[in-house]
This record gives sequence, structure tokens and C-alpha cells, in this order.
Amino acid sequence: MEVSPINLYFRSEVSQVKNEHYAGVPYYVELEDSFMRGTNSHTGRNFDINLDELLELVDAKNKPGLKTILTGLSGEVLEDLSIETTHITHAKDTVSDIISGTAGGYHPQKDRLGTISNHKILVHELGHALDNIRFDDGMRDSLSTRDEKFKAAFKQEVEAYEAAGNSRYKVIIKDRRIANIQNANYCTRSEQEMFAECYSLLMTGDCASKNVLLRYFPKTLEQAQNLIGQIRAMPDEKRHIHNRMQSGLDRVYKFIDSLKEKEKPVEVRAAEICACVATTNMR
Ligand SMILES: [Zn+2]
Repeated sequence: MEVSPINLYFRSEVSQVKNEHYAGVPYYVELEDSFMRGTNSHTGRNFDINLDELLELVDAKNKPGLKTILTGLSGEVLEDLSIETTHITHAKDTVSDIISGTAGGYHPQKDRLGTISNHKILVHELGHALDNIRFDDGMRDSLSTRDEKFKAAFKQEVEAYEAAGNSRYKVIIKDRRIANIQNANYCTRSEQEMFAECYSLLMTGDCASKNVLLRYFPKTLEQAQNLIGQIRAMPDEKRHIHNRMQSGLDRVYKFIDSLKEKEKPVEVRAAEICACVATTNMR
């Protein structure tokens, strides 16, 4: 794969999400070597991303391409990324080796976003990370599966979508989970996939489900934007669940990874993992 050279130094006066579905806050972003710093022009809040640390689990061959993807993201998405995760990995190192051809994944316990494919899938997986929060009862869960307004909008619009003669996206489950994130109705899979697709659409102006989403799910998209606002108003410790237990868990995952089992390696709630498998080669 040809990798375009990385711009290792830039200053951007305005880095702003602006598309026909969303206009965000301007950011000032600068990059020097592997160190990114951004400032939210409305709140004045700074964020820092050390790209070498964020990508330390990615092999040397794919690192330049990922850096190029990351430096192309807008300040608003980068601020979310700086809060939500500590590592981006190859998809297989996030969701496991057993799901072959995985395009992307998110694993809250491992605290990883997995994809090296493209910015759309990366932002989709970041959407799952935003969605995964700690509730006041201490439970970690997806806001999209608990928020009554979002759920109601999704349910109502899914019913109308089906009543119009369409089918929802269904995952084929045999001995492994197969899901195609590139499918045009992927957003209808679940509340969580809908939220991740809405996040991708709002933050990048595009997602695989764009046409279905815009035509059949306008209220759900509006509620997703509402949830994004709610999440961004939360303290970081509710958004990013990485605590002292993590170091112990990291050892467990390392051990499990080393076993290279042919079965699902850890017992996690299916809802907490997004394993998006592409049927075509995404490179
Ligand atoms: Zn997903």
C-alpha cells in the first residue's frame, strides 16, 4: 500500500466540523512531530494527543497511514478521541483474532478502538466509545440503549422503515459473529450501531448507512445529536472508563491473546463489542 508522506508539523487556525448535517465548534489544532494539541474556541479547553502512545500497538508498516487519518480529523472529533480511549489497534487486537477480516471494533474493557481501515470506520468506532458511559448506579452501559427519547425515536422509525417494505440489518451468527459495517442498512442493526452511524454522519458528513439514515431516521438522528451533547457535558471519568482494575485486566487479556483460542476469548456482553466485519478488503 502506498502511504502518503505525513505532515509532521502544522498549525490550523480553524479546524471545524462543517457539513450539511452538522456545524460544530471551531478548534485551533497544532501538530509537532507526534504531539497534537487542540483548543476548543468556545470552552477554551485544551486536549493533547501523543500519537506515538495512541498508536504504540500498531505495527510500523501501518502507523504512517493511521497518523495521516488522524491528522485529517477535525478538532471536535480529536477532542472526543483524546477523552475516550488510550489505544488504537488493528481490529483483530481489539475484538480478537477469531473474527477474521474484521474492519473495526470497540472494546470498552480493553480500552481500545480497533481499525486501521479508514476514517469513517475509525469515527464509527469512536461513536461506540462515546456511547459507552458509566451511569450513576455504577453500571457501564450504552446510553443509546437506555435513553428513552433515543430509543423511542429509533423504535418508531424502524417500524416505519419496515412498514415501507424494508428489512432491518441482521447479523449472521454461526460460530463467529459476522457483521458488515459497509452495508447500506447497517444502522438498523441496533440502537448502538445507529448511534455510531449517526456520530459518523454528523462528524464526517458520511457513513455507510447515510441514505437509509437520512431518509428514514431523521428523528433518531436528532436524538443522537442530543445524546452527543449530553455526553460531552459529562465529566471525563463518566465517559472514559479506565481505572485501577485495568492493569489487572490488561494482564488477563494479554494471557488470553497468547492462547490464540478458537473460541470467544472473554465473556463480555455482546452489546459491548462492536465487531464490524467487512466482506471486502478495506485497505
Ligand atoms: Zn459498530
